[in-house]
Amino acid sequence: MSNEAWNYVISPPPQAALAVAGSDKVFPVRRLWCVGRNYVEHIKEMGQDVREPPFFFAKPSDAIVPDGGTAPYPSLTKDLHHEVELVVALKSGGRNIPVAKANDCIYGYGVGIDLTRRDLQIASRDIKRPWEIGKAFDHSAPCGALRPASEIGHPAKGRIVLKVNGKVRQDGDLNQMIWNVPEVISKLSEMVELAPGDIIMTGTPSGVAATVAGDKIECEVEGVGTLNVTIGQPVEIGASFRDHKAIGRSPTITAVPIPLTMVLDSGLESTSAE
Ligand code: MN
Repeated sequence: MSNEAWNYVISPPPQAALAVAGSDKVFPVRRLWCVGRNYVEHIKEMGQDVREPPFFFAKPSDAIVPDGGTAPYPSLTKDLHHEVELVVALKSGGRNIPVAKANDCIYGYGVGIDLTRRDLQIASRDIKRPWEIGKAFDHSAPCGALRPASEIGHPAKGRIVLKVNGKVRQDGDLNQMIWNVPEVISKLSEMVELAPGDIIMTGTPSGVAATVAGDKIECEVEGVGTLNVTIGQPVEIGASFRDHKAIGRSPTITAVPIPLTMVLDSGLESTSAE
């Protein structure tokens, strides 16, 4: 009985979820994994050795920003980067999943952005400290609606593009992945037990670059879908800008002291301020 709602000492946090395209159903998100290096040209632009195998890091599931939402410019950085990625959503999991069985675990696919505080990530990398502060911050995981594999199959090729204010910044192809999706799932399942609700951002092509408040970011993965996100104004110190219900709508403001001008600038709907 310990997990009965009345037994919690505070309200349990809302369940993160992704919209399913063309449906009123949503996909509940458990864990959000990311592949560190998976496209040769991006590894080169980051000055790393292309022969090194990819590795994994994670973001909190409540970092998800839905399609059409706003990700406020995060604190502490002067170099926020976009990384457009194919997102894979799992309907089943397991340990040591063979490559040949990995596609059976996939519910569907989406388009995501691995937003990165590049200056903080590189500072951590250089002194061999963890990457969370560079990668796993609030609103760091915009992610569009999922398309079920039962509708679109398992895309192994197709253009993956990111535009900022209409200008192409990243333009690659899924067939440039060093480790393909089944290999990524198999490899990750050697490290952790995967489970239904896990999603994986599968790495980014070259062209990563800085983005600033006010930027309109448009992403598309051919055959999968689109994602549109605005980079918002920074959140003022002491303010909160939280949206846990990452379900296909713009974020709402759940705590007060955000100036009205900021609300207007970011084009958001405000809920009643308490
Ligand atoms: Mn990435």
